[in-house]
Amino acid sequence: VEDKVRQNNWENYSFLNYKKNVETLNVVRDRLKRPFTFAEKILYGHLDDPHGQDIERGISYLKLRPDRVACQDATAQMAILQFMSAGMPQVATPTTVHCDHLIEAQIGGEKDLARAIDINDEVYNFLATASAKYNIGFWRPGSGIIHQIVLENYAFPGALMIGTDSHTPNAGGLGMLAIGVGGADAVDVMAGLPWELKAPKVIGVKLTGKLSGWTAPKDIILKVAGILTVKGGTGAIVEYFGEGVDSLSCTGMATICNMGAEIGATTSTFPYNMRMADYLKATKRGFVAEQANLYADLLKADEGAEYDQLIEIDLNTLEPHVNGPFTPDLATPISKMKEAVVENGWPTEVKVALIGSCTNSSYEDMSRAASIAQDALNHGLKAQSLYTVTPGSEQIRATIARDGQLKVFEEFGGLLLANACGPCIGQWDRRDVKKGEKNTIVSSYNRNFTGRNDSNPATHAFVTSPDLVTAFAIAGDLRFNPMTDTLKDQDGNEFMLAEPTGAGLPTLGYDPGNDTYQAPPEDRSVVSVAVAPTSDRLQVLKPFKPWDGSDAYNLPILIKSKGKTTTDHISQAGPWLKYRGHLENISNNYMIGAINEENDKANTVKNVFTGEYAGVPDTARYYRDHDQKWVVVGGDNFGEGSSREHAALEPRFLGGFAIIVKSFARIHETNLKKQGMLPLTFADPSAYDKIKPDDNVDIIGVTSLSPGKNVKLVIHPKGGEVWETELAHTYNDEQIEWFKAGSALNKMAATNK
Ligand code: SF4
Repeated sequence: VEDKVRQNNWENYSFLNYKKNVETLNVVRDRLKRPFTFAEKILYGHLDDPHGQDIERGISYLKLRPDRVACQDATAQMAILQFMSAGMPQVATPTTVHCDHLIEAQIGGEKDLARAIDINDEVYNFLATASAKYNIGFWRPGSGIIHQIVLENYAFPGALMIGTDSHTPNAGGLGMLAIGVGGADAVDVMAGLPWELKAPKVIGVKLTGKLSGWTAPKDIILKVAGILTVKGGTGAIVEYFGEGVDSLSCTGMATICNMGAEIGATTSTFPYNMRMADYLKATKRGFVAEQANLYADLLKADEGAEYDQLIEIDLNTLEPHVNGPFTPDLATPISKMKEAVVENGWPTEVKVALIGSCTNSSYEDMSRAASIAQDALNHGLKAQSLYTVTPGSEQIRATIARDGQLKVFEEFGGLLLANACGPCIGQWDRRDVKKGEKNTIVSSYNRNFTGRNDSNPATHAFVTSPDLVTAFAIAGDLRFNPMTDTLKDQDGNEFMLAEPTGAGLPTLGYDPGNDTYQAPPEDRSVVSVAVAPTSDRLQVLKPFKPWDGSDAYNLPILIKSKGKTTTDHISQAGPWLKYRGHLENISNNYMIGAINEENDKANTVKNVFTGEYAGVPDTARYYRDHDQKWVVVGGDNFGEGSSREHAALEPRFLGGFAIIVKSFARIHETNLKKQGMLPLTFADPSAYDKIKPDDNVDIIGVTSLSPGKNVKLVIHPKGGEVWETELAHTYNDEQIEWFKAGSALNKMAATNK
């Protein structure tokens, strides 16, 4: 019976849902009567209410029921802390937590891992105990990078998954929709609420021909990034199809989907094929492949499905590409690279060459790179650049250790790093160049924005396939083209590197390596979650107070922010990352990047009680401690940027009442509602210009808050005449309940009692 087929080898409680997906999809088919793209079939097959849901691509908001949730350690902390306040005994949707972001690369895998375990002990301990308590699969530090672990263990064709990391789309390599979200969305799904997504447009990429030689799957996405640019995929799912797909391994497809994040795409996916079935079997999930084979019709686009945009790439003529520096969409084919390097004055010496990461650390990637390194060794050459190898998982590390690739890398001069994000997320204690020194690095990673890897704004970071990274390491020069240029062997004879070769899957099967998984225990009632009251990195959330039932009078404006106010202005990242699990401490960054209209300064606002100027968080805290609610006034697209929920938690924690702006970035607006803040917009945008930073305001009509009905803002200027303006909002009935309860979680906790 189909509904008894498990999703994976770890959870005896999560099952494949194909039958239900087909039934749900058929309801939508009867309504819309048109062929669907594969992406649409997955989405519509996961609708919460297929009968009543409005469906228009690019317009409607779909309410969906994802199959899974995955969280990485940096984002999981606040997500789990919030989930805890919902008062539920366990997660309602299968969830996993992965320790990968907090491990700094310094001297090599084992020692770096030991150091990270020491430094992050309390965070790991919290995540381990909370996972055990709430029935979450926990992958310890050293297990590998979230997206690789998901692909190896949890991803399955036709699934819908959300993950609290932007490269969650990696799992599209197994024919599913895997979408990166903020922690607040993950909490909803963990708590069993439907998840909302604006019905994406679908960009079709047709692959013809066949990959060969030096061209790798990575080159497909490097090319697509060049065509679509970093914004071109916004609000869209990229769906690959065509006969060229069959020349790609499952892990190669994952690489392509992974880096789709760089063009802003919601996610990317491939239709189910035999390469995916082979990978499922190799990772001990033949039972999933058997079911997927039975539902093959569900797992591809319908005949005649229409795309909002169509791109065609001929793999026969696709060249290897090198993208960068400073942006992943500056795509240069290898034949033009020499010229581009000279023209742009990019540093020619390749200082560091880095392979691996979640993007490119499959067995195939490692085997091909090792074949190139071996070729160099056969000619008496080693890497000229510092060469680092980051396996995406313990399974990959153990398998390449067993099969010899690792030995080749080591002979070649390579340094094995931990199975973790490391230099990809800036966790890199780089010592070979000084800060500010212009230099070049090449990696098989996905992102190369300024300073991402080593915090050095002068580092020119290029992304390319592991094959080219290895070739560059041998030549030590960014102008090298392995397809046309020769090298000198140890005797001074010229030779050309042979084209890379390597198996997609290990013939001896994968070696699981060290046991790095912690399953939730049978009896979870005895587990207590470890949060030390003295910790400065973790703090249990106290529920926010419910709304007091009245309108608000005489509120000061904490800050009237001028110009752009992104989530980075509201809640900075960088050094504040380590406080992501401690609301009180991270609130010390609230709005410190926003510019005060009154004095054009950041983090300098007037305290209306004392008349003194102080930092924004300090002033907010002063008001809160004196029982004074406050508001923030801002401009257009307030809160754009990331889906970081801290940007909404902080003002609520600091005693804010409303955020009044010209317009909101939608995710931030929803996050504010979830935390019990009132997000309001000027019905007349010119009111923004008229309102002054030292005015006081009343907000009238909150007592009768209802969908579609404006509230009133009464402005009391210092010594001037009182005036009024209308404020709009986008609350629905359910969200109004969140506001009244003090937060969505309070509402959920009350319902769960
Ligand atoms: Fe993100 Fe890099 Fe880690 Fe991948 S390896 S999850 S891109 S930080």
